[in-house]
Amino acid sequence: MSGAGIRAGVSGAGVRAGVSGAGVRAGVSPLVESERDPAGAIVAEEVPAGEGWIGELAAGAVLRIVDLCGNQAVDTLFFDAHDHSNRYSAVDTLREQGSAYLGLGSRLLALDGEPLVSIVADTCGRHDTLGGACSQESNVVRYGAHTRHMHACRNTFLLTALQWGGGLSKRDLSANVNFFMNVPLSSDGALEFADGISAPGRYVELLAERDTLVLISNCPQLNNPCNGYDPTPVRLLVWPAR
Ligand SMILES: [Zn+2]
Repeated sequence: MSGAGIRAGVSGAGVRAGVSGAGVRAGVSPLVESERDPAGAIVAEEVPAGEGWIGELAAGAVLRIVDLCGNQAVDTLFFDAHDHSNRYSAVDTLREQGSAYLGLGSRLLALDGEPLVSIVADTCGRHDTLGGACSQESNVVRYGAHTRHMHACRNTFLLTALQWGGGLSKRDLSANVNFFMNVPLSSDGALEFADGISAPGRYVELLAERDTLVLISNCPQLNNPCNGYDPTPVRLLVWPAR
């Protein structure tokens, strides 16, 4: 979340456009489509850019997040539904899987070391959990004082959590997943917010390994290429446990 070492790829020269470059697919996991039929989903909702969503997945349920228009970052937090203090741990997840990106087969671990959800289908290939969620503070540091009042994911997380009323508070907003967001890690260890590798209709599916609370901010960021400078809606589908 500090952002101090992140070179936001705002202007052309520093941006490694993520769509067609030869090296872009490096670190991309295999792409596997789902056989699940949207007609059988028990939840089918569209989340506009800048809006939030919160819901519980019973163990065995599957959540699909669809990047309807492409190049959209979907900031997401996970919690054990029965113990919100046992939340998603980015550092444990990356250490245990031995790689810096999330993709097919990634097990998203809680602080207790056991998975909350696993990625069981993916047509994007790479998802970020290093770049953090945008905030008013980080926007000011990166993009200038004039961005202070622009909407940011941490606002959406907090607003959605408080409106839900289930006991989450600001202190529960820790390191998150950015589905579809492209944050390449260079050989010298630098991070960059780059143009996306997703495209219209690509999706990721998450299997709940236990009863899991999911909190989403569909990112409104306009100051870096993570949303292609044009935040767009996503679609959520949930299937019950088989
Ligand atoms: Zn954001």
